[in-house]
This record gives sequence, structure tokens and C-alpha cells, in this order.
Amino acid sequence: MMTVLMYSITTAVKNFLFPGGAGCPLCGRRGSPKHLCRSCLEIWAGLARGFTPCEKCGRFSADLGGSLICKECQTGEQPFIKACSVAPYEGSVREALHYFKFCGKQDLAYPLGELLAALAAEVFPFKSFAAVVPVPLHEGRLRERGFNQAALLADVIGRLLKIPLAEDALVRKMETPSQTSLSKQQRQANLKGVFESGNSADGLQGKSVLLVDDVFTTGATVQECSLVLKASGVQKVYVAVVAAGILRVQ
Ligand SMILES: [Zn+2]
Ligand SMILES: [Zn+2]
Repeated sequence: MMTVLMYSITTAVKNFLFPGGAGCPLCGRRGSPKHLCRSCLEIWAGLARGFTPCEKCGRFSADLGGSLICKECQTGEQPFIKACSVAPYEGSVREALHYFKFCGKQDLAYPLGELLAALAAEVFPFKSFAAVVPVPLHEGRLRERGFNQAALLADVIGRLLKIPLAEDALVRKMETPSQTSLSKQQRQANLKGVFESGNSADGLQGKSVLLVDDVFTTGATVQECSLVLKASGVQKVYVAVVAAGILRVQ
């Protein structure tokens, strides 16, 4: 609630300083409303400083212990080939995703999707994806929020990288209570049977897809979606998220 209030105050100040809505969609400073400004991008790059992303799951660690992948990826097999993320899920990145998701700030979809498209093109340069697949929302939640943030991001990525969007390759059959206070094991158990493959999954058999979500923390959602896609015949799942969690030093 406090964040929403702060956001409305910030927006009011921004509208006063920059009438007409021009400027960075995140901080309101001058620049284009379609892209994050240089200072916001510098802040985001600063959040990643001192951390190395795990080569497999994309989460950030201050010390991977001489390995390229985190302990979890070393000990357990991930159902996706590789996940990549723009920045750690901290500070300004966390706020941006909060505004985007919970404050209806849909004009962040383009700048965030653009960053994800650039990242995916860099990390997966020679991959040919049959589709971009967003992590779905339950229809009740979709009605309440009015949009699925992952689908908006996937749409931008698809348009920029010229990959078809398969919005209904995955369907969320039920809503789960807030997962934030749960352990990884509890989240995984909660998500069993929540997703199923949808209409457009049939055309993806034997193909590679790019699964898109806003954030990857425990990875339970992305893992479950990857498993469902693979069970429906998708051969390889690659993942792109805006933000990934920071792993405790192992
Ligand atoms: Zn900015
Ligand atoms: Zn990892």
C-alpha cells in the first residue's frame, strides 16, 4: 500500500515536472518514454556489480566457489537448458517490476521487453525459437489485474526478435496463494498440477521455445512450466526473465 502511495506521489511530481508524460518511464527524467534512461540502466548495472550470474539458472552469486554454476544447478537437474536475466531482483529493479505488475504501469512492458530481447539475442545468438511462451496467469487473476505482465514482455520480445508468440501454449488452471513466505519445496509442491499445456503447444513438438517471466527467485514456477512444456513434446526450453534472485554465498 505504501509503495502504491509512493508511486502515486512520484507520478504526480513527475507529471508536474514533465507534463505530457515524456521522459524515462521509470524515473521520469528526460529521455524517451519508450526506453529506460541511461541513469536507470547504470543503477541496474550497479546492482549486478560484484555478482556473477549462474551459467545455468541466471541467478546471481557473490561467489560460485570456482564453478560456473550454482550449487543447486550442480546437484539437481534443471528442466530448462539455460535461463538468463537482465539484473538482480533488488532495489530499483524490484520497484520497477512492482510498479509494472501491481500498479498497472503497462508502459514499462516495452522498455523491459526490449532489454530482454537484447539479452536473449546476446545469450542465445544462434538459437532458432519456434515460439516465445509467457508464464500464464490464472484467468481470475488476469481479470483482476487486467493484463499478464509475462505475456506483455513476451509480445515485445516476439515482435523485436521476430519469433511467434504462443500465449496459450501454457494455461494456469488454478490460482495459488502468495508464494513469498514459502520454502522452495513448499512452492514446488503447491505448483504441482497448476499448469497444463494449451492449444498452441501442439505445434511446438520437437522444437525449442523461449519461456518468459518477470522474475526468477526459487525457480519453482519456471521449472514447473518447463516440465509441462517438455511433457507436451517441446524439446528444449530456454528462459529469459527481467530479474533473478541473489543466491547466498555457498
Ligand atoms: Zn530513468
Ligand atoms: Zn544456478
